[in-house]
Amino acid sequence: MVPKKKHTRARSAKRRGGHLKSTPVATITCPKCGEPMLPHRICPNCGNYRGKEIIAATEQ
Ligand SMILES: [Zn+2]
Repeated sequence: MVPKKKHTRARSAKRRGGHLKSTPVATITCPKCGEPMLPHRICPNCGNYRGKEIIAATEQ
């Protein structure tokens, strides 16, 4: 059997789009500076993780 009709681009995109769909990023708030940060990661703002400063904060 052969497909009778070509699927629309929208239909193909819906099927293939699963891995392209952006997932909402889970973030937590840094207890040190209050900036949103990724869980289990060093804070990009102040460089703290689990109460310890891993990366020296860059003062501007
Ligand atoms: Zn922070």
